[in-house]
Amino acid sequence: MLLGRFAPSPTGVLHLGNLRTALASWLSARATGGRWLLRMEDVDGPRCRRDLGEAQLRDLAALGLTSDEPVAWQSDRSAVYREALERLHGAGSLYPCACTRKDLQLLASAPHSEDGLRPYPGRCRGRSWEGFDRALRVRLPEGPVAWEDRLTGPQVDDPAALTGDPLLFRRDGCFAYHLAVVVDDGAQGVTEVVRGADLRSVTATQIRLQEALGLPRPAYAHLGLVMAPDGSRLGKRAGALGVGALGARGISPEEMLGWLGWSLGCLDQPEACRAEDLVQGFDWARVPAGEIRVPGAWT
Ligand code: GLU
Repeated sequence: MLLGRFAPSPTGVLHLGNLRTALASWLSARATGGRWLLRMEDVDGPRCRRDLGEAQLRDLAALGLTSDEPVAWQSDRSAVYREALERLHGAGSLYPCACTRKDLQLLASAPHSEDGLRPYPGRCRGRSWEGFDRALRVRLPEGPVAWEDRLTGPQVDDPAALTGDPLLFRRDGCFAYHLAVVVDDGAQGVTEVVRGADLRSVTATQIRLQEALGLPRPAYAHLGLVMAPDGSRLGKRAGALGVGALGARGISPEEMLGWLGWSLGCLDQPEACRAEDLVQGFDWARVPAGEIRVPGAWT
């Protein structure tokens, strides 16, 4: 049975792009009689706030998107991540990294990745173990990874060219996103990962990490991003495209669902509806792979 999930980071308001991802994931589960869960990715201590996460859950509920299981908060799961790190250390795959952000910018020659950092070139690979209180990276095996995207088909990516060895534990004591996401998808039995195209470049790296931890590979779908009406990135305008801000301007959750459902190929026209009304029309074959623009009247 398909188990899907939406895993936002509680660092701000969910905008139409996030909501579109959540809806697609929910529809994919519902259309196949599967289950769906919400997970709060709040490992990045200082940037994540419980109240923002609670607000995200309320906005999702306003659209009818609620988790079939109690919502997991990653900040409660440190022991599980620590155990995964210990297993990787037991296999000899971890090494301490002493590089600063500045070192990394000076060292790398490959193009910038989405987060503005370049792939880690492996400078500290030869360092000997200094304990769990250091920044830790995992040594990934060389070579490309072949994987399949539900929207864009077969992909071949080399983690070395995209991320390099990922950081799994940070000097400030936080577990890193790559570790938490892979461990939790495995622990929760997630079989389908739907997320934004901005995370496509980290998928091969996460697959390598799943393999290192002996976890199964879920199916992947990376949705095109939601852009401003003129095709530019939403940037700061995204804040005005949440359930609350749109609602304050008289746009109902049903109208948002109509537009989102239409943008996912479930409807011929954006017509106000409930999430349930979209299930029957959902089919990955009809979901457009490219970017989608917000209606001009909503910005
Ligand atoms: N927490 C990540 C984000 O909000 C998403 C992680 C994922 O879907 O794999 O960008």
